[in-house]
Amino acid sequence: MLPQDSHVHSEWSWDALAGSMEETCRRAVEIGLPSVAFTEHADLTPWIVPPDAELPVQWHDLVTGDVLSPPPLDLDGFRTCLDECRGRFPELRILSGVELSEPHWHDLRARDLLACGAFERVLASVHSAPVADGDGFTEVGVRFEDQKPAEVLRGYLAETVRLIEEFDHFEVLAHIDFPVRRWPMDAKPFDPTDFEDEFRLVLRRLAASDRILEFNTRVPLDPLVLGWWRQEGGQGISFASDAHEPQALAREFATAVHLAEAAGFRPGRDVHGFWTAC
Ligand SMILES: [Zn+2]
Ligand SMILES: [Zn+2]
Repeated sequence: MLPQDSHVHSEWSWDALAGSMEETCRRAVEIGLPSVAFTEHADLTPWIVPPDAELPVQWHDLVTGDVLSPPPLDLDGFRTCLDECRGRFPELRILSGVELSEPHWHDLRARDLLACGAFERVLASVHSAPVADGDGFTEVGVRFEDQKPAEVLRGYLAETVRLIEEFDHFEVLAHIDFPVRRWPMDAKPFDPTDFEDEFRLVLRRLAASDRILEFNTRVPLDPLVLGWWRQEGGQGISFASDAHEPQALAREFATAVHLAEAAGFRPGRDVHGFWTAC
């Protein structure tokens, strides 16, 4: 049986224009997924719009240098939709969740949202980096325009360590290798061994704080990193498509399951829970 998809977006995430909770649930039942966690974006950091940005339609009037402030999660709408889907798909376990972006920079707002939301799955992630002149923030991939790829990734991993050290209220670290999604084609290809020390530091801190590492399959996590997670004392993993549309649900999970087994992880006792270290 496939594992739970622990990181999925629906129409309740501001950037998931093709998202649909109902269609995602229908697809989950179709492919035999036992459960799905809808972890909608709480993007707390405003971004400065970069040149040539491809923005969702609601932001088309923004120009380079403007500030894009992602809207807050509509908790009432999200919960109502979740309840409807639970009624419609009783065979599927549907978890309410949230993906907090840089919660350590927005401690009060993040904790307020968690208190109101009573989420069953809380992911934390880093999506942002300071702009070149240090006056504001941008999506981390934008920094490949003006910074060496290795520096972008090292900065990202250092910020991820700060997230783990400074914010306690999350369960799963999302996409540890997020900048790799935008790795420049004309640069030396990404090789995790070039960043082993930095990855291991994040993994060590994550393991020490008793949290879960996410196996994100959008750009599948390199199995080497999974092995390092095991060696650094990591006890659990989640599987995550990070889907923003129903068709992407559980993408590459069959492969991910094999890689996770090879790295020493097995399904836990609860089919709806995390995989654990053998
Ligand atoms: Zn994310
Ligand atoms: Zn996500």
